[in-house]
Amino acid sequence: MGDITRVGVIGCGLMGAGITEVCARAGLDVVVIESSDDAAKAGTARLESSLNRAVERGKLDNAQEVLDRIRVVTDMEQLAERELVVEAIVEDEAAKTAVFRELDRIVTSPDAILASNTSSIPIMKLAVATSRPAQVMGIHFFNPVPVLKLVELVPSLLTAEETTERGRSFVQDQLGKNSIDCQDRAGFVVNMLLVPFILSAIRMMESGFATPEDIDQGLVLGAAHPQGPLALADLIGLDTIKAIAESLYDEFKEPLYASPPLLERMVSAGLLGRKTGRGFYTYA
Ligand code: NAD
Repeated sequence: MGDITRVGVIGCGLMGAGITEVCARAGLDVVVIESSDDAAKAGTARLESSLNRAVERGKLDNAQEVLDRIRVVTDMEQLAERELVVEAIVEDEAAKTAVFRELDRIVTSPDAILASNTSSIPIMKLAVATSRPAQVMGIHFFNPVPVLKLVELVPSLLTAEETTERGRSFVQDQLGKNSIDCQDRAGFVVNMLLVPFILSAIRMMESGFATPEDIDQGLVLGAAHPQGPLALADLIGLDTIKAIAESLYDEFKEPLYASPPLLERMVSAGLLGRKTGRGFYTYA
């Protein structure tokens, strides 16, 4: 089996748009599915502004050439002939399971890889929603996708070796990313370490022990982190952090992973971080 040329991405939010961009910049043809015309428009605008920024920074010659390889649509049936599909919708198990059931019906290519960018939902739960669990795996990118080099590769207990190896060659050889191998456990490697760290920073702030600015400055200047945990939480999205914490708690039942009340309230209030203009900080 040769290189993958036809990719599908489901969801054109923060991550889906990033995954689409790196695939199209690598010369691949990408069909992206969004849930409504408005969301498709917003996704297209997200792609355009990221590609235009890349041109301004001298990292890309021609944004239009890349956009010409991308189609953002609302009809999932258009994924029928894709060789690899990456699901990147909201971190919700029921919604993702429904998408994998649909993908199994729609994607006709017999060797297609059905991948999820989930941060914390067991790949096995998505795999068993299909009739081809051997072709389902986690391909977990990091935000911002065009910038961060890491991808976690997550086979489930039922994933075929051949699927994992094709996934590895796709992300390393075709997209130029670095991959690490993880077991199918909530949080994989990076979020299992990162999310409890962010939750501890939120608890520290919530208890009045230190301000967000001081917590973040402490880690930037005292531990050489490129940004503090609360600024990072705003970048990731507080709804996503909450969802990952819930999956980790569900899996391991450790208080360390329990979502602090402040995080719950901020998510209920729609203070989700950069994407809504306000989280621990306010954005213009
Ligand atoms: P997001 O809210 O920015 O984007 C989700 C998008 O999916 C939205 O545009 C929404 O309209 C669309 N969508 C929802 N249901 C859909 C459906 N049924 N069909 C098509 N589109 C649908 O979320 P995000 O931050 O991009 O996260 C997406 C996934 O990536 C989640 O599983 C998350 O855990 C994972 N992830 C997030 C990060 C991060 O830093 N935010 C990092 C790695 C992985």
